[in-house]
Amino acid sequence: MESTKWKCSYRNCNEDATTEGHVFAKEVDGEALVPKLVLACDIHKEKLEFFEKVSK
Ligand SMILES: [Zn+2]
Repeated sequence: MESTKWKCSYRNCNEDATTEGHVFAKEVDGEALVPKLVLACDIHKEKLEFFEKVSK
């Protein structure tokens, strides 16, 4: 671990993550969509496929 800062999980994105949430990724073998935990920056959290985690 070289940094304590969260980095955006999106490929080719080097921004610091500002939130966490999940996207639904298609399984390689089958039709099911599986939730996948990701970190997102301000830009990517606006993406339609990103569901921000609601803090309790
Ligand atoms: Zn990003």
